[in-house]
Amino acid sequence: MSKPYADREVWFLTGSQDLYGEETLRQVAEQSQEVARALDASADVPATIVWKPVLKDAASIRRAMLDANADDRVLGVITWMHTFSPAKMWIAGLDALRKPLLHLHTQANVELPWDSIDFDFMNLNQAAHGDREYAYLATRLGVARTTVVGHVSNPAVTRRVGTWVRGAAGWAATHELRLARFGDNMRNVAVTEGDKTEAELRFGVSVNTWGVNDLVAAVERVADADVDRLVAEYEDLYDVVPELRRGGERHESLRYAASQELALEEFLGGIGAKAFTTNFEDLGALRQLPGIAVQRLMSKGYGFGAEGDWKTAVLVRAAKVMGEGLPGGASLMEDYTYDLTPGAELILGAHMLEICPSLTTAKPKVEIHPLGIGGKEDPVRMVFDADATEGAVVVSLADMRDRFRLTANVVDVVAPPAPLPHLPVARAVWRPRPSFDVSAEAWLTAGGAHHTVLSTAAGVEAFEVFADIARCELLVIDESTTRRGFADQVRWNAAYHRLAQGI
Ligand code: MN
Repeated sequence: MSKPYADREVWFLTGSQDLYGEETLRQVAEQSQEVARALDASADVPATIVWKPVLKDAASIRRAMLDANADDRVLGVITWMHTFSPAKMWIAGLDALRKPLLHLHTQANVELPWDSIDFDFMNLNQAAHGDREYAYLATRLGVARTTVVGHVSNPAVTRRVGTWVRGAAGWAATHELRLARFGDNMRNVAVTEGDKTEAELRFGVSVNTWGVNDLVAAVERVADADVDRLVAEYEDLYDVVPELRRGGERHESLRYAASQELALEEFLGGIGAKAFTTNFEDLGALRQLPGIAVQRLMSKGYGFGAEGDWKTAVLVRAAKVMGEGLPGGASLMEDYTYDLTPGAELILGAHMLEICPSLTTAKPKVEIHPLGIGGKEDPVRMVFDADATEGAVVVSLADMRDRFRLTANVVDVVAPPAPLPHLPVARAVWRPRPSFDVSAEAWLTAGGAHHTVLSTAAGVEAFEVFADIARCELLVIDESTTRRGFADQVRWNAAYHRLAQGI
């Protein structure tokens, strides 16, 4: 099975020093290669692990970090001090490192050889204190990192390493991301605004606006034969209602929707964008708000935000990349309406149209209905229920003036308690952890947005890694959240993040 990021590398760097002599250093090299091989062989680890020669002095450590910085294939580096590696040697290297860092606190052996242990063994297997020396220095320098503890034969260890690789891939994805906004923000909406210049520094994303009529022109350029082919694909993949099928009275609307998909893909490909936004208030000469077109592009890995919401589009793109190869998917989502039955509260999430079909394994229906807002022709959309998934996550990104804040809630997506025959949009129904009232109170206290990414593939741990790497605030609402604890965390975070960014 090929890895989701097989063409991306994570470098495995082993620390030691010259004092040990040839025999010990040979063993350090062999055993560290075994650790790297075990990580690389694990199905949990989604990138290629590349072992590098053992580092024994400050110059080679610095060089390794500079090389990692300069190589676009490198998602991050893993460090392990198999022996003692005096940490002043790591100052220049760690100070220079600009890629995500994982400190793997492991050992070559699982069990101690109690019967045979001698001082040669002690000399070789010193991670217990070698990694402490290293971690002191990393902490003293304030190096953002993920620390994973345990033997690589332990699946919990490879799972966490894999999750870190996913977070690092999300970070790389936002740094490679160009985002196209068709039109601006929905008028008067607050939370979808934000500092695009700061976002380019913090997340690496380039956010720019194109006039929607650039897209209109692209729609007009689409060839009929391409529309024929795509419409046939829709009829093959989805349960298209008769009025939209070939020969149906509203088939022309499906053809127009298909031309929107083709135009969007061509336009975004032309400018190298992997995320975009639309705004139903600013559609220019587009005849419909893009529905199925946006849904399909999200399912191909594009980030998307509605109403000009570029921040959520960034999150959708990051979630797509972090969840690659995992069951489930990721989509723009909006907390829409509640079932407040005491003790059985549920959140119904949806949007006007734009929910990604990666959230379902069922065959979506393709339907056409009026939108009731925006004054355009009826848009074509896919309609489905998101699959039930334990431990999914909704995440929002808000601009708090002096910083960005990610807010995440771990949720359990459930089957709708009854069919929804009159609801003309795709939807997800979930039960938030730890409970509806604590979750919603915490979300509102955090100032989390109404737009989120719902991810049923990448979980909250991948977002934690992403936030740590980006040095972005993340408030997590999960089974351990309490009202008082969360309110305190919001207050303490405000102080911490203001201090941490300096004056
Ligand atoms: Mn919305």
